[in-house]
Order: sequence, then C-alpha cells, then structure tokens
Amino acid sequence: MNWHVEVAVQTPAHSAMGELLTYASSVPLVAGTLVRVPLGSREVLGVVWGATLPDPLLALKSVGAALDALAPLGDAWRDLVAFAARYYQRSLGEVALAALPPQLRDLSTAQLARRLKRKATGRVDVLADDASNAVALSPEQQTALARFDLEVGPFLLFGSTGSGKTEVYLRAVAELLARDATAQALVMVPEINLTPQLEARFKTRFGSDAVVSLHSGMTNPQRLASWLAAHSGTARIVLGTRMAVFASMPGLKLIVVDEEHDPSYKQQEGARYSARDLAVWRGQREGAKVILGSATPSFESWHQSRPAQGDDAGGRYVRLAMPSRIGVGGGSEAGTAEGAGALPTVRLVDMNLQPPKTVLSGALLAAIGERIARGEQSMVFLNRRGYAPVLACGDCGWKSECPHCSAYRVFHKIDRTLRCHHCGFTERVPRACPACGNPDIAPVGRGTERLEEHLAELFADVKRPDGSAVRIARIDADSTRKEGALESQLAAVHSGQVDVLVGTQMIAKGHDFRRITLVAAVNPDGALFSSDFRAPERLFGLLMQSAGRAGRDAAYLAAQGSRAEMWLQTSHPQHPLFAALRKHDYAAFAASELEQRRAAGMPPFAFQALLRADARTQEAAQAFLTAASTAADSLPGADHVTRYPAVPLAIQRVANVERAQMLIESGSRAALQRLLATWQPLLQTVRRSAEGKGVIRWLVDVDPQQI
Ligand code: ADP
Ligand code: ZN
Ligand code: ZN
Repeated sequence: MNWHVEVAVQTPAHSAMGELLTYASSVPLVAGTLVRVPLGSREVLGVVWGATLPDPLLALKSVGAALDALAPLGDAWRDLVAFAARYYQRSLGEVALAALPPQLRDLSTAQLARRLKRKATGRVDVLADDASNAVALSPEQQTALARFDLEVGPFLLFGSTGSGKTEVYLRAVAELLARDATAQALVMVPEINLTPQLEARFKTRFGSDAVVSLHSGMTNPQRLASWLAAHSGTARIVLGTRMAVFASMPGLKLIVVDEEHDPSYKQQEGARYSARDLAVWRGQREGAKVILGSATPSFESWHQSRPAQGDDAGGRYVRLAMPSRIGVGGGSEAGTAEGAGALPTVRLVDMNLQPPKTVLSGALLAAIGERIARGEQSMVFLNRRGYAPVLACGDCGWKSECPHCSAYRVFHKIDRTLRCHHCGFTERVPRACPACGNPDIAPVGRGTERLEEHLAELFADVKRPDGSAVRIARIDADSTRKEGALESQLAAVHSGQVDVLVGTQMIAKGHDFRRITLVAAVNPDGALFSSDFRAPERLFGLLMQSAGRAGRDAAYLAAQGSRAEMWLQTSHPQHPLFAALRKHDYAAFAASELEQRRAAGMPPFAFQALLRADARTQEAAQAFLTAASTAADSLPGADHVTRYPAVPLAIQRVANVERAQMLIESGSRAALQRLLATWQPLLQTVRRSAEGKGVIRWLVDVDPQQI
C-alpha cells in the first residue's frame, strides 16, 4: 500500500513550481509531520500539508524520512503559515520553511532524536508569585487587568512611558499560567537589544527554565533549543522579536506585542509580514488573548480601538488607558496635559534664534551641565550614526558619493573610512580631494560620533560631584557591533558611570533608565517634511519614546530635587507636531493626523500594497511596472483598485541596482487582496516577457510601512 502526501518545501520566490509537491510514502503521514524529501539532486526538509488520493499512473519520488521524533506541527500553526503566505503574496513553502529554525534543515533524524532526548524534561512549573515579586498595582494597572480578565479583546494597552505596562504583561501572564497548567504565552518586543532586560524581568518572576527567547541574535543551536522547548510545550513563555510570531506553541493562550507601533515588526525581506498584524490574526484563530501595548500606538491600532460614537460602532479592539506614570498617583484624565503627570517638561529651542552653526544651544548645555553637577544623567539623541553624513571639498564641490548608490558615503572618523550605509562599500578616507587634489576636504553635517566628540570637548573642564572627569558614552549600531558590547554599555549607564549618553534610536526605545533626568533631541527636523505620509507619526512616536527615558523614577527625582526635561532643538518650532508633543498629547495629534488621512483616503482608511521592481536601469524597472499595471487592467475588480504611476524609490540606486515602485490602493482590503492574488501569475508572465531587458527581481509589499 502506498500513500501520496503533499509537502511544503522551500521554493524560490514566485517560482513556477506549484505550492505543494506530491510524494509517495509507504506509511501514512499526519499533516504537520516534518519530512526529508528529494528535490532535484538534494534532500530537503519539508512539512507534510495533507494527503491526496493515490494516482497509480503517477511515478512519484518517495519521502526520504520522517522526523517522527518530533510531534507534528499543529493545524493552527499551518493555518497561520498558509494565511501569511496568501496575504503577503509569497509561496507557502517559503513561509513555512522560513518559520522553522534553520538547524532543523541540517539535522538528520537520528541527530534530532538525540537532541530531543537530551532536552526531554517535561513541562516546567513556573515559580509561584512570591511576596518579593509582587508589587502593589496602581489603580490604573488594576483597572486594565480587570478589564483584560473580563473581555475578549484584542486589547490596546495605551499606557504612558513608565506607566507600568510591563508589570501588566507580567501579571496577565502570571494569572494565565497559574490558572492553566498547559498554557503558554508569547511576548514580543521590537528589537533584540530590548530582550535582555525583559528576559531578566520574566526570568526573575517565572524562573529561568520557564522562559525561552527567540530572535536573530541567537546562534542556530540556541534557536533550535528554544524552538523545541516552545513546540514541545516545555517553555511556558516565549520572548522574542518579530520572527517569534511563527513559533509553534501548542498551548498558546496569550500574545503580548510590546511597543506595537514599532516599524521593526514589519519584515523587510522575503515575505514582508507584519508580526503585529499576524499576532492579532493568530490570537483570533487560536482563541488566545492579544495585548498590543504602546504609549504611541500605530494610527491603525488607535483607529481600530476607537470607542463607539454616534453612527460609528467603534473599532474592534478594546482600549485600556494608563495615562499616569508609576509613583505619581493616578486618577488623572487621559491624554491631557494634567494627565501627563510627571512626564518630562518639553522645552523647544528655536534654532533660528541661535548663532549660525550652533550644534547645541547654550541653554541646553547649561541644563546638561547642571545635571552633571548633581550627579544625574542626560541622554542626547541624534538619529544618524557615523561622524558626518558627507565629506566634501570646498574648492571643487566633490562630495563623498557612493559609486554604487544614489547616496553619500558616511564619514567614520574612528577608523577613517567612508562607508556606504546602503551597500556597505567602504574605503579609506582619501588624503586629498579625489577630483581636484585639494588636501582640505571637510566633514559636512553631524552624526553621533561627531556629537560625542563635540560634547567631550565642551565638558572637558567640568567635574562630576566626586571631582572626577565627565564621562560621555555613545550607543549606536557602530559602538555595539561586538558581541556583548551593548550589554556592557547599557550596564555602564545603569550603574551610573556615564554622565551623558549619546545615541541613535537604539537608546530611545524601551530602556528603563533610572537616573536619566534630561533627554535632548538635537536635530529631529529631517522627518518633518518627508514624502512618506507616516513620517510624522513615526517622529512623534520616537520623540515621545525618547522623552519617556527621562525621569522614570519619581522617587529619585524627588530625592534629587530635580525635574525631568525633554529638549527639542528645531528650526520649525511652530510645527503642530511639537505643540502636541509639548502637551504629551498623543490623542490630539492622532486625531488631527487621522482626520487628514481620512480626507486624503490614506491608511487606515484605505489599504495599500507596493509593487517593486529592481533592474539594471531605471527605465527597465519602470517599464516592468507599467506593463504589470496594464496587465492588471483586464482583471476582475481592477476598477476598485487604484494603480499609481511607477516612480523611483527615494534612494533610487543601491549597489548598482535601480529601484522603482508602484503604489496600489483600495478602500477595500478584500478587493486589494483579490486583485493581488489574480495578478500574481500575470506578473510572472510579464517578468518572463521582460527577459533580457535587465529586470532583476520584483516583489510585492502588502501594507507597506515605508512609501
Ligand atoms: P512601561 O513599560 O509602561 O514604560 P514599566 O513597566 O517599565 O513601564 O514600569 C516602569 C517602572 O515602574 C519599572 O521600573 C517598574 O518596575 C515599576 N513599576 C511598575 N509597576 C509598578 C507598581 N505597581 N508599583 C511600583 N513600581 C512599579
Ligand atoms: Zn576638490
Ligand atoms: Zn553604496
């Protein structure tokens, strides 16, 4: 007797191969079983998706081996993968295999069995919530948790920075695990660098065996171990970045998406999924409660959690508000200046009134100096790493352009290199202008490296309270390249060794700094006039987040007799974004931005996708998109979907590849999805007919975050 099974294997994007491949098997195989199957000359990992009626005339290759030491992947997991593949327009095999730990691909059945035996421990009991763990909840935390218990959700936990959202997550997880001995919780954070602190908090609370992490900073063996612990139900809590949304968790009952507005939840290659959106879908499918948490929710989630009003039945999320910071006393109004409690006072510095070439205004320097004298910490935030964004020749106008990209190479003084942040092309800084030989080439503009140097000069003669020299530190992608560097740098900040911390958005998010009382954003203007309609939303979120790093410890502030301040240096002090920021009034800002989006028919009132093409020339890229658009004319429902003209990307050329995109938009998500699904095969035809015209690749980005 012979069975025929359909198997998902890793197939190249948009390959002509069908979604699933059929193999013969001498034994029946349950859907979800991991198997090794022959593909071409190789043997690859696959996931059994289902069985088909055996066709005796079909000569099929046979399944090599089943990894039957492992429990099959559940229906819910397969549904999630299938949904993600369909929704984001990728092949099922690609999404399924990318969702599994890479090492599973390499291990033989015997090796896997050994690995599993070593791990076989059984479910871990979580630590009982003992007195040392338990803090008294604030009234707002109590209310939020009570509603979380009673209602179904999904929930949007709209809590100020420092309002104790993490404590709410911990309690929700604790209650669930205490109630249900097989339940599992998934907790997601946007960035790897936020996982250590959170991991420590969860491990202290629940015991280190109950918690595993899943993120791309782990080694393959570590990832496999975590994945197996989640899949077997041993791990009760999985903490991870966006990839964790695909973790196989048979007992999943709760999903937390912290900082749900963060753009890092959107995958930017392969299947361009939103882990936040998939979390909501997954929660619904598996009957798991979902909490999205943020002080500055995405406008999508904010709109989705609007209360009912008049004819509007409201959104489908439940909004839970925690406007007050811990230690400040609750009971104040949500979203208003009074409700902001001890959120930092926002000070705007009008850079038009400063002497030309001012980097840090005198008033800001004085404020930082006062903090140093009192032994407090300050944080200076500049979202641009390197020393200077451009190196230029004053004589002939030469600039440090990247020969491969339509962008400048950034000057890194530390190793005297010019580095392209897009393609990675790196060269030693030339001794003289490559164009005219002028030896006097100079940096233009400023990155974190140069800002750090500048601050060190300015505070060279200032002393800390103990008489020692001021310590300036920098945290950005460059300073944290070495393994463990970020942890040790953060530890230095937490232990009080650092007086002024300079950094990119890496330091603006999430960290629970206790002694920082001043945060300054020195050049936030770049994002004010971006062509991307989400730029103001992102800037507002980032600045609120940064402000949230100041004055997190009310008791410390009181003991110091200090105040939390957020300084903003801008040439556009009249901009409404700053007015809203001053009042910490997210709600008002969101309302005005959403009103504009409604009027303009933009998300969340419309749904978008991008079709992108990469080619040898910009003409070829655009021609592909135009041909694709023409091909779509004949599709059913095409008239419900707007296709805009093809345009170059903001950074048009990267690594000698020209990039163009076409925006596709509809008031109906279903209409957009229908068009994309029927368009897919046509796109492959258009691609084939463009053969030899220099088109390199194309891709679809559904719900794009960057336009
Ligand atoms: P958020 O995630 O909202 O920014 P956190 O959860 O990090 O805030 O809480 C801020 C600080 O307040 C943390 O140091 C946390 O330990 C503390 N905290 C949270 N809830 C309470 C509480 N009920 N009582 C005392 N301290 C609390
Ligand atoms: Zn020159
Ligand atoms: Zn480049």
